[in-house]
Amino acid sequence: MRLLVATSNPDKLREIRHILAGLPVEIVSLGAFPGVAPPAETGSTFAENARAKATYYAEACDTIAVAEDSGLEIDALGGEPGVHSARFGGIVGGYPRKFEIIYERLRGRQSASSPARFVCALAVAHDRHVLFEARGVIEGRIADGPRGDGGFGYDPIFYYPPLGKTLAEIPEDQKAQVSHRGHAFRQLRAFLEKRAD
Ligand code: IMP
Repeated sequence: MRLLVATSNPDKLREIRHILAGLPVEIVSLGAFPGVAPPAETGSTFAENARAKATYYAEACDTIAVAEDSGLEIDALGGEPGVHSARFGGIVGGYPRKFEIIYERLRGRQSASSPARFVCALAVAHDRHVLFEARGVIEGRIADGPRGDGGFGYDPIFYYPPLGKTLAEIPEDQKAQVSHRGHAFRQLRAFLEKRAD
């Protein structure tokens, strides 16, 4: 079976390949479909965006496709940046700028170490049909300041209490065991293993 992992984010693709390694499935990336433009992400939930991306790519690339939508929800900011995580704070300044804005807002609300979570919703589609959906969550809080240079995105400011570290301070293997993406894609792994039986 061939499975298109429909993400243009190389960090996510690396993590997903790692979690799905060893399955009797040929994993292909969007690099194999250079003419296919990305869809607009207009949903108001992670699940909605994941379903929309999976059905779009399954149809446009004529294959089984898995898409995911993920992001960081910070309680003291009413769940922001949420589905806007990638675009939050604009593209200028990258993640250091996004972190500055978050810490500034948290200081304003006197909630420096607010509870927070990463959420990952995934959907698998073929033609216009959704075949499988899963959701993974990791609960933690915002770190006192950015720490670590592993991972990607918001990992340096996400403190995970059971390990006493941010997600940027742990190796990729360990992140895959505890992360939102790890939880969601292990459910997909089980689904694919059952289909292969
Ligand atoms: P999208 O799902 O491509 O719209 O973007 C998700 C965004 O959420 C990423 O660009 C990151 O900013 C953030 N994000 C999702 N998963 C992670 C993670 O595992 N670590 C850090 N940031 C993440």
